[in-house]
Amino acid sequence: MPDYRINSVFAGLGTTVFEVMSRLARTHDAINLGQGFPDGAGPDDVRRAAAEALLDGWNQYPPMLGIPELRQAVADHDERFHGMTVDWETEVMVSSGATEAIAASLLALLEPGDEVIVFQPAYDAYVPMIRRAGGIPRFVDLMPPDWRFDPDQLRAAVSGRTRAILLNTPHNPTASVFDQEALSVVAEVVEATGAVAICDEVYEHIVFDGRPHVPLMTLPGMRDRCLRIGSAGKTFSLTGWKVGYVVGAPALIAAVAKAHQFLVFTTPPNLQRAVAFGLSKDGSYFDSLVAEMEAKRDLFVEGLTECGLKVLPCTGTYFAVIDIGDEDDVDYCRRLVTDVGVAAIPLSAFFGERPWRHGVRFCFAKADAVLEAAIERLSRAA
Ligand code: PMP
Ligand code: GLN
Repeated sequence: MPDYRINSVFAGLGTTVFEVMSRLARTHDAINLGQGFPDGAGPDDVRRAAAEALLDGWNQYPPMLGIPELRQAVADHDERFHGMTVDWETEVMVSSGATEAIAASLLALLEPGDEVIVFQPAYDAYVPMIRRAGGIPRFVDLMPPDWRFDPDQLRAAVSGRTRAILLNTPHNPTASVFDQEALSVVAEVVEATGAVAICDEVYEHIVFDGRPHVPLMTLPGMRDRCLRIGSAGKTFSLTGWKVGYVVGAPALIAAVAKAHQFLVFTTPPNLQRAVAFGLSKDGSYFDSLVAEMEAKRDLFVEGLTECGLKVLPCTGTYFAVIDIGDEDDVDYCRRLVTDVGVAAIPLSAFFGERPWRHGVRFCFAKADAVLEAAIERLSRAA
């Protein structure tokens, strides 16, 4: 074989833990509560809008920033849900999933050697994307069981090279939500450093117990210092669609668009049409999404608790985390998939350094019967 000189960031990486666990789940015929995706069909009318757009000829390159209908719908959505005023023409870009929006943001902002503050555990795509963009991650720990961080550790992570802070709330994998106090500390640090906050808010409509989702961008002084990222995958339970959107000050969006134009240039126009339709749906759609997920959270958390498992607080997202005590989380997940027939994700996969090795994440965005069957298997194992 020739000696291919693969980029060292990727050469050193394994396959994502989601792919690995989904494959193991198939091999062992396990119930897959690992990779985070809903098992329902998604809203009928949104899928129909996509099918109609596809047949009606929305199939050629749309404008690079996204079709006007969707950019307007994103701006209207942010006003309706978060009281923001957004200029759809200069402050919104449609991306190929939140993933591409995050990658484009990092590529747009970073010079080699720049530092990015990352709260860990962190969604597993962040650190490789930061490194590939030439950045250096600086980790701040979210600590179980309530996943708060120490403000002093955040302040100490700042240096003269801090260029961005990656903030994810509601948070994957911990299922926690940054409260007002935590957001204020982040805002204070963003203000003091001149960094840009890249805000991954893909679970903005999946926050439980009547709590609001508060974008960092709505805090005083933050409007022009944030890139706020959403995903139709989560808001419409259609994770394969990979339609995301990013909102920010015109100069920031212009910079992100420079990266976007040579990553993907654009995003399928038929799906964009359908997402524009979806974002314009009335409040009852968004209420029912959260009500449905909250009912699943309740069913699943109660089941886990009855199995004698220690469930950590779960205030948003698709996920519930258990504290398994002294056992190693990777061993636990292997045993779970092979012996018990339930696939989950070890939390240590989400750490860049100092991993906590005793947490396991389950995805409860599944049919009730699937959750009940998983609980039944877990209770037999217990
Ligand atoms: N960020 C977080 C925190 C996620 O959980 C996910 C989804 N899996 C993404 C980003 C990626 O979203 P998308 O599929 O729209 O790229
Ligand atoms: N975001 C999903 C999760 O956390 C997985 C996405 C993926 O497989 N890349 O499970």
